[in-house]
Amino acid sequence: MTSPSPHSNSPAPERFPVVVVGAGPAGLTVGNILRAAGVDCLVLEAESREFIERRPRAGVIEEWAVRGLERRGLAGGLTVRAQRHTECEFRFDGRAHRFAYGELTGRHHWIYPQPLLVTDLVHEYADVRGGDIRFGVRDVRLHDVDSGRPSVSYTDPDSGERRLVRADFVAGCDGARGASRQALPARARISRHDYGIGWLALLAEAPPSADRVLFGMHPDGFAGHMARSPEMTRYYLQCPPGDDPGNWPDGRVWEELQRRLGAADRPPLTQGRLVEKRVLDMHNYVVEPMVFGRLFLAGDAAHLVAPIAAKGMNLALNDAFLLGDGLVAQLTKGDRSGLDGYSEACLRRVWDYQEFSAWLSEVYHGTSCGDPYRAGTTLARLRRLFTSPAAAAAFAEQYLGTAGAY
Ligand code: FAD
Repeated sequence: MTSPSPHSNSPAPERFPVVVVGAGPAGLTVGNILRAAGVDCLVLEAESREFIERRPRAGVIEEWAVRGLERRGLAGGLTVRAQRHTECEFRFDGRAHRFAYGELTGRHHWIYPQPLLVTDLVHEYADVRGGDIRFGVRDVRLHDVDSGRPSVSYTDPDSGERRLVRADFVAGCDGARGASRQALPARARISRHDYGIGWLALLAEAPPSADRVLFGMHPDGFAGHMARSPEMTRYYLQCPPGDDPGNWPDGRVWEELQRRLGAADRPPLTQGRLVEKRVLDMHNYVVEPMVFGRLFLAGDAAHLVAPIAAKGMNLALNDAFLLGDGLVAQLTKGDRSGLDGYSEACLRRVWDYQEFSAWLSEVYHGTSCGDPYRAGTTLARLRRLFTSPAAAAAFAEQYLGTAGAY
């Protein structure tokens, strides 16, 4: 619920056309679009700059998202340093099955670690475009978002004082556990899907073992390999939900990865020091609509998609492009059409990606679920990708996010 306006003895309220809550890919992209159009805004971030520039998460970015960043002058670092991926590989029945979606479609993915993208976006926003960003803010609250006069308050980390900022619009870009989700009114519809499985998310100081994403469908559970950079690789291991990472000493992790991703015609994985080890309880949610009065949600604040199909940051960027452009049109030309259509336009791609993630989850987890019927249908799905050109084309389109319309 939205908090009532604070009655504080804090300094006089400031005013910005837009307050952006959260400096992740969504919030920073919105902020950059606004600054490029000369619209004043304030970005509030709970963590420090150093922290957000190092926080490891995504790495797989779709071509249309990179084009969207490029058009807004935000892909300079990415297009120089990112790698291109044109293939993925399914490993099951002890064999490797290469899926060359680049050959099929002429399209590719970009591999660029999220911390590098965030570093680029903060630099552009704060150091180049002169945007106001405040790090380490505490106890952020949204007020009166359903009225024409919303505001955001926070505790200043240096003085300890409460600050109030009035705004015309609030962009809620503070992820799954932020203040924006706390401010949702009762009419918000939240659809949630729990997969009932966990993934041990791992980051290894080891070069990738292949120039493609590897999906291992093993009777003992799923395992995944995703390059992040020439020196770093992300791995995933299916585990019970709520499992303790302490149950996974490094020796056990590498043994399971080698086994679940092993294929007769491929070399073993290149091992290295594990620098991240945490359990994700795999779930998705969608908040509808994505607009409540003057509060516009974007990214994980509006919808979460478990990292099954590497879609979350792509969706966050799509929202940010639409929201940034809509706010600029409204604030510079009085054109409300972008903001009016914002929620519906975002949700079409959101639901499409949710469906693909659920479909792919069954491919990953069906063979090990213990139900021979589901294991049989999962293997049929997998084989179809390699025997039916129509099935292969449909998979490639969804994996790359290249449908003509959503
Ligand atoms: P976030 O990145 O979560 O940013 C929100 C920001 O708000 C954060 O900086 C946070 O500190 C700040 N914040 C939180 N609360 C407050 C508050 N109260 N006040 C102020 N600030 C606040 N997606 C892909 O597309 N491809 C991938 O390959 C991929 N891999 C992933 C791997 C893992 C292990 C995980 C966990 C996720 C992955 N994702 C991937 C998903 C992707 O990381 C997220 O979807 C993406 O970060 C969403 O961006 P965002 O800006 O919406 O939110």
